[in-house]
Amino acid sequence: MTTTQAAVVESPGAPFTLQDVELDPPRPGEVLVRMEAAGICHTDLTIAAGHIPFPLPGVLGHEGAGVVEEVGPGVTKVAPGDHVVLTFTSCGACASCRLGHPAYCTTWIPQNLIGGKRADGTSPISRNGVALGGRFFGQSSFARHSIADERSVVKIADDVPFELLAPLACSVQTGTGAVWNTLRPEPGTSIAVIGVGAVGLAAVMGAALTPVNEIIAVGRRASQLELAAKIGATRTIDSTGVDLAAALREATGGAGVDYVVEAVGNPDVLKAGIDALAPRGAVAVVGAPPYGVEVSVDVHRLLPGRRVLGVCEGDSDPDRLIPLLARLIRGGRLPVQPLIKEYAFTDIQRAAEDFRAGRNIKTILRFDT
Ligand SMILES: [Zn+2]
Ligand SMILES: [Zn+2]
Repeated sequence: MTTTQAAVVESPGAPFTLQDVELDPPRPGEVLVRMEAAGICHTDLTIAAGHIPFPLPGVLGHEGAGVVEEVGPGVTKVAPGDHVVLTFTSCGACASCRLGHPAYCTTWIPQNLIGGKRADGTSPISRNGVALGGRFFGQSSFARHSIADERSVVKIADDVPFELLAPLACSVQTGTGAVWNTLRPEPGTSIAVIGVGAVGLAAVMGAALTPVNEIIAVGRRASQLELAAKIGATRTIDSTGVDLAAALREATGGAGVDYVVEAVGNPDVLKAGIDALAPRGAVAVVGAPPYGVEVSVDVHRLLPGRRVLGVCEGDSDPDRLIPLLARLIRGGRLPVQPLIKEYAFTDIQRAAEDFRAGRNIKTILRFDT
């Protein structure tokens, strides 16, 4: 049993409060990780606010980076001392997992998002002997230590700083993967990235590493559009008050864009993206509106080979993609640093409020202060 400090959310809408909790010793297939950095993602705040069901009181956090302290029986993937990124988990046995698409695991929603416990119904986190919601994305990394599922753990060489590794776990993997794994743009094509938060900017970075001809970044904040231009966008569009589909068609000389990443999660934006597509073009739907939101499309718009593709976590196989992303950072080819603002873990509530208010793009908690 390990006692550690965690940021607990007591009930929907309650703040993050630092408390001592107890962690089980690692069971078979589990890893005890000492956290060094963790990113805050919108999904953490959506759940803390009660918009997605999760057993509370509980511990959130799904962009962890740290050092392995102990491994459970049978774990061979990592050893104590290894630097690791903690990402989403998956079952490893369903058809999607076996075909290399663990982000489409049939157990994805309960295991990562809403379950709050292991597959056997127990939680690795408790407080005064009472189980808390844990195991969020196989990790619950808003704590100084985590009992992580082995399948959430990705070993990384130890020469990339933890604050740059943490965002690879969700937002950077999602944005780059949507471009590389789902859209796969051919040489000379055009791509529009709508929404320039962490995921959208990662999609811009990802697109800049492909042979596309044009990368159009669309957003509403001048500072983020300027950053998009610095990291690879060839053109930016401030979408405030504009007919977005028309603006995108105009930006491509009337031809329409070949590829769109919709990273806003807004049905009107998605519709504009579909309406802006060239024949045989594709939209990757990355942003998530509330459950039940629908989009109507003129079917004739789709007939010339246009496609709308949902994407979760960039359709990533984390064991392959995350080490690659880390190597790109080390080689100076993936500029994650300008997205980041660091806070001490003990300041998590202020960090969450700043992030919610849009004061920074990628909020990283540091545990060494
Ligand atoms: Zn699976
Ligand atoms: Zn996330």
